[in-house]
Amino acid sequence: MAGWAIAVHGGAGVDPNLPAERQEQAKQLLTRVLNLGIDALRSSGSAIDVVELVVRELESDPFFNSGRGSALTENGTVEMEASIMDGVGRRCGAVSGLTTVKNPVSLARLVMDKSPHSYLAFSGAEKFAKQMGVEMVDNDYFITQDNVEMLKLAKEADSIVFDYRIPTVGYETCGTGVESPFQMNGLPISIYAPETVGCVVVDSQGRCAAATSTGGLLNKRMGRIGDSPLIGAGTYACDICAVSCTGEGEAIIRGTLAREVGAVMEYKGLGLQDAVDFVIKERLDDGKAGLIAVSKTGEVSYGFNCVGMFRGCATQNGFMEVGIWD
Ligand code: ASP
Repeated sequence: MAGWAIAVHGGAGVDPNLPAERQEQAKQLLTRVLNLGIDALRSSGSAIDVVELVVRELESDPFFNSGRGSALTENGTVEMEASIMDGVGRRCGAVSGLTTVKNPVSLARLVMDKSPHSYLAFSGAEKFAKQMGVEMVDNDYFITQDNVEMLKLAKEADSIVFDYRIPTVGYETCGTGVESPFQMNGLPISIYAPETVGCVVVDSQGRCAAATSTGGLLNKRMGRIGDSPLIGAGTYACDICAVSCTGEGEAIIRGTLAREVGAVMEYKGLGLQDAVDFVIKERLDDGKAGLIAVSKTGEVSYGFNCVGMFRGCATQNGFMEVGIWD
């Protein structure tokens, strides 16, 4: 039996000039949640429980863009989304448009476990959350001063890619080499805020699971849904692998990125790293994104085509790594 493996991400597309202090904070947080997952795996936690546990922890910390610390909508509110998938039986659950649910990933888990559906959104998802008795808090809880400032700057900058982690002038953003205005889905966008979170796990019994959670893009339109809650796009798990994506949601949706990794493994017979490389190269079109993946045989892999991705991984044989750059 192959050993367990775990990978986490905290978003693709990082400011090349990200201050050293923030880089250090990111690495410490990734290390902390990796260790949490490792402890759970050593205590025979199942893949699905471990991905939920790790993503919950990331949602509760304001550092990345999920749960508390979510990027703000054009109206200054938070609309969170998340999904989870258990490779065992390919069961899944997803949620969007959450404004008061403290841990969106756990509501996605409940959609999977306790509802006849796969995906609940907006008021229906909030109603389900109340019925399930999950912890709910005021929308204000999720809003950080950092994100209020970012939204203000995004609005001032209008059609310019802006993120306090990405300098607005004289930069090469996310590897495109073009200066703003930046295009997404063929249209100029005003903002791109990375730092969605995700976790993939294969446990010691070879069971794979994936979870992804996000506040979405900063300054996004009300009602915008990205790839993170979409099974097959931002999240996918089956009996051979588990994948969580991050980056430009619209491009990830077009490429059905997460499922594509499983598909090329299944139909082309590629190994995990080759499948990840293939999908990043051939299926991302003009989009910028990254992903983490594990296989049932205990391999762990990642790939991205932009400047940096916050990530970390560990395997049962003692390998552990946390990184940001290529
Ligand atoms: N993929 C997310 C979205 O488009 C953003 C991210 O991964 O940072 O909502």
